[in-house]
Amino acid sequence: MKPIKAIVLLVAFLLPLTSQAAMLQWPVEFDEPWTHISSTFGPRLKASDDYNYEFHTGLDIAGDTTDAVVAAADGEVFRIYQEGDEDSDYPNGGNVVILKHHTDSAIRFHKHNYHVYYTLYLHLDSINSALAEGDAVSAGDELGLIGQSGTTEFDHLHFEVRVNSTCSLSSDCNTTGFEPHVHPLRFLDYPEQAEVTLSRLVFQDDFLLTIWSKHREVDINKIVVNNRTINFSTRRGAVRQTNSWHSLQPGKFSTRSRKYALTIWYHHMLQSTKPIHVQVYDVHNHIVADQQWSN
Ligand SMILES: [Zn+2]
Repeated sequence: MKPIKAIVLLVAFLLPLTSQAAMLQWPVEFDEPWTHISSTFGPRLKASDDYNYEFHTGLDIAGDTTDAVVAAADGEVFRIYQEGDEDSDYPNGGNVVILKHHTDSAIRFHKHNYHVYYTLYLHLDSINSALAEGDAVSAGDELGLIGQSGTTEFDHLHFEVRVNSTCSLSSDCNTTGFEPHVHPLRFLDYPEQAEVTLSRLVFQDDFLLTIWSKHREVDINKIVVNNRTINFSTRRGAVRQTNSWHSLQPGKFSTRSRKYALTIWYHHMLQSTKPIHVQVYDVHNHIVADQQWSN
């Protein structure tokens, strides 16, 4: 066996995130709500499930049971599920509100334009009793209070955006042929700068790439290494921890963590003599890290 040869190189990028006109308002009323994100969209190890791997399909926003959850946009109440409802499509979500929205300015997603989308609000402590399915709501209307109903271990809002369909990752009711979950930060005001650091580790002919942020959760959506693309907006990118050419190894997250770490283990990447070129994209398709290493 060859001796283990490990090289770690660090590079930091500081880029302003130019936010496009936000389609949604934050579903909570905190100042600087992005600082309350405890778990971002993407692969993670789930604390309430013994740190097993899952693809997190929304944003977790920490709060407590006095904090209001509000509609992120004008729309209508599509579904209300109370915790314990036998017909709930989201039994792990506890008290759940789903809103349906229409937008005149199309959402471009997977090479198509969509005008219908849904926002989902899970784990509510209680749901505003004035709400009923079919009701019109305006952005900012109170939907309920942050809580920990369903399967979770701390008070937070799990907030999702789905385009065109409410089908879940695991369901086969998807008629659109793509993963309907979209990174919510794509539609929210998010004015801070992202500081993303890349580091690499070489292990025999494998290449381990770690993407991390010291100070807060980040909004990574696509990672390109040479001709290999992982895109979290696709089912293929979303659901697999391991396939023939890579393994996703997220860092353990804690409920109040402000750190982010994701390691991708590329199998046999170094069998060719090509340099390794890494590009990391945020939810707005801006490059937030770009680094080339000679092999
Ligand atoms: Zn969540």
